[in-house]
Amino acid sequence: MPELPEVEVTRRGIAPHIEGRTVTGVVTRREGLRWPFPSDLPALLAGRVVRSTARRGKYLLLGFDHGALLIHLGMSGHLRILPAGVPPLKHDHIDIEFGTQVMRFTDPRRFGAVLWHADVDGDIEQHWLLRSLGVEPLGCADLAERLYRGTRGRGVAIKQALLAGDIVVGVGNIYACESLFESGIHPNTAAKRISRERYLRLAQAIQRILAAAIEQGGSSLRDFIGVDGASGYFQQSYFVYDREAEPCRQCGASVRRIVQGQRSTFYCARCQH
Ligand SMILES: [Zn+2]
Repeated sequence: MPELPEVEVTRRGIAPHIEGRTVTGVVTRREGLRWPFPSDLPALLAGRVVRSTARRGKYLLLGFDHGALLIHLGMSGHLRILPAGVPPLKHDHIDIEFGTQVMRFTDPRRFGAVLWHADVDGDIEQHWLLRSLGVEPLGCADLAERLYRGTRGRGVAIKQALLAGDIVVGVGNIYACESLFESGIHPNTAAKRISRERYLRLAQAIQRILAAAIEQGGSSLRDFIGVDGASGYFQQSYFVYDREAEPCRQCGASVRRIVQGQRSTFYCARCQH
């Protein structure tokens, strides 16, 4: 599943190909994905210039003079830039055409989304999909304090508080497991019992791990934007994630797996308390 780093790498990959360019056409090959596509999408976008590419959580926001296109990659979606005229395959659902190039949205499992938000409907941050999102972790100077304050009175386990996304966005299952390991915090610890000092270590781990993932993904950008159809989701080497019963890379104890909120959590009982 694309996580924040993949979405950010996608944004950086498509930006130079579409920013400042005029949409020459839009082709939709089904009614919608998770939700119906805007019915007037070709008329909305044709002749309009992409002014900006931004990301909020896992949503890509393509800014136009009259609104923004929200794109979510869902469970399996990806965007590629292709030369115009490359025949679509089965799971290629939308093409946004820019003259000699096409931005193609492919999504085999169809949990992705393409929605339109008109400027006249207000601030994009107030869109129903965005308004309850937590802070962006990268570049947030007071992430530790936000985690500390956001979890006072919350008896839920810290792993689930991170995944909930209402305090901080983008800390998906992989990054929650890895950042809790790096900061030495047991994933079952009640969020409200964690001190400011420990949240400072957790915040630093979250920011470092996400930044490293983006950097690593950036080096494989060619796979993302290639014509070869490679999905390009990057595999990293993890300390605990998906390593049940394998030795902890720090102490050698067996990595454990538990289930929290129907998601697998991986941790080292010796390194995390
Ligand atoms: Zn360990």
